[in-house]
Amino acid sequence: MSVRPRRRRTVGGIRTAIGALVVALAAASAVALPAAPAEAAGAKVVYLTFDDGPSPAYTPKVLTVLARYGVRATFFQIGQNVAAHPSLTSQVAEQGHSVQNHTWSHPDLRKLSGAAVDSQVRSTDRAIRARTGRTPTCLRPPYGAVNGTVRSRAAALGKQVVLWSVDPADWSRPGTAAIRSRVLDNVRPGSVILLHDGGGDRSQTVAALPAIISTLKARGYGFATLCG
Ligand SMILES: [Zn+2]
Repeated sequence: MSVRPRRRRTVGGIRTAIGALVVALAAASAVALPAAPAEAAGAKVVYLTFDDGPSPAYTPKVLTVLARYGVRATFFQIGQNVAAHPSLTSQVAEQGHSVQNHTWSHPDLRKLSGAAVDSQVRSTDRAIRARTGRTPTCLRPPYGAVNGTVRSRAAALGKQVVLWSVDPADWSRPGTAAIRSRVLDNVRPGSVILLHDGGGDRSQTVAALPAIISTLKARGYGFATLCG
């Protein structure tokens, strides 16, 4: 299966590269993704992703920064947060971002039955579709935790499993400077950058974002969405 990124601000050739970025990894602990394909395709792009929202405290602030820089991103939202703050999900989609599935209640899917995995994914699909008019094509399992059941259920539901390749652990609040440097020191063409707009105090993430984006732009990167 292939994934179709929205490419409003990116160069051509990305489409074929995305397949390698979006992988159902065999090992639950593995999070690294190959970055070479996008580079080989001539595209110097990165993919900003925001997990665990929508959050009334932080999602609007993230959207403001993204809009200021004209950058689009991918939001892996939690279904119960969508249900609690549906207008925020609408707002994210209306601003051209990709809204994707991060399960209903953020469980470790490896600990659930196949039927329960299905329920987590389907209920979140419904909530997102109701606000965006689009059914998510991608699933990011909480904690990056996947096993055979998760992979097979995701495939049966038509979902690509999307993890990440750059993780600054912003959720642990290491400081704005640490978030910034962990991203900028590790990014390369095709990187999928994991950040969070929900699940706790994300003020450091919001504060780090302008410098991350402006530095990447200065390095010649474009920004694309996943799973559009
Ligand atoms: Zn999460």
